[in-house]
Amino acid sequence: MSSIVEHGSSVQQVSVHKQLTCITCPIGCRISVEMQNGEYVFSGNRCTKGADFARAEITSPMRSLTTTVRTVFPGMPVLPVRTKTEVPKNKIPSLIRELAKVVVTKKISIGEVIVPDILGTNCDIIATSDLEGDQGSGIGDQGKIVVCYRSVKFHDTLANNNSPIPDP
Ligand code: SF4
Repeated sequence: MSSIVEHGSSVQQVSVHKQLTCITCPIGCRISVEMQNGEYVFSGNRCTKGADFARAEITSPMRSLTTTVRTVFPGMPVLPVRTKTEVPKNKIPSLIRELAKVVVTKKISIGEVIVPDILGTNCDIIATSDLEGDQGSGIGDQGKIVVCYRSVKFHDTLANNNSPIPDP
C-alpha cells in the first residue's frame, strides 16, 4: 500500500507500513507508521510513548500471557497463571498449547513458578493465585514441587492414586 505525501513544494511517494492502536494508556491513540527514506515515521500518537510502542510493535512485538492451567483438585480445577515477563507475540500460541499439557498436582503459593523457562523463552510461568490444601484433592501434601507434564510425569506421579484425571 502506498500514498502521496507532500513536503513543501515537493511530492514524495511513501510506503504506508501499518496502522496501530497504542495500548500503553487508556487513550488508545491510532498511530500510522510509514517508512520514509529508510526511517519509520509515526503520526497520530499524542506522546513519545506511542512512538516507542509502535516501533517495538513493528520490529519485535511482545506480550504478556494470562491464562489458566488444570489441577487435580476438584475444589479448584483450574489455577490462574501468567508469564513472569513479556514474551515474543508470535510465541503465544505455542505457549498456550504447552500450558494445555500442564496439570498441577500439589499445593503451591501465589508467585511460585509453574513452568520454568517455558519453551526456551527465558520466561517462567507463575501462579497468580494460591492453591492451598483445603481444595479436596485426595492427593495429599507432598511438598512444593508443582507441575507434572501430562504426557510423561503426570501419569507416573499419579500411578498409584485414584484421583480424577481431567480430560485434555
Ligand atoms: S500515544 Fe501516548 S497518549 Fe496516546 S495511547 Fe499511547 S501512551 Fe497514551
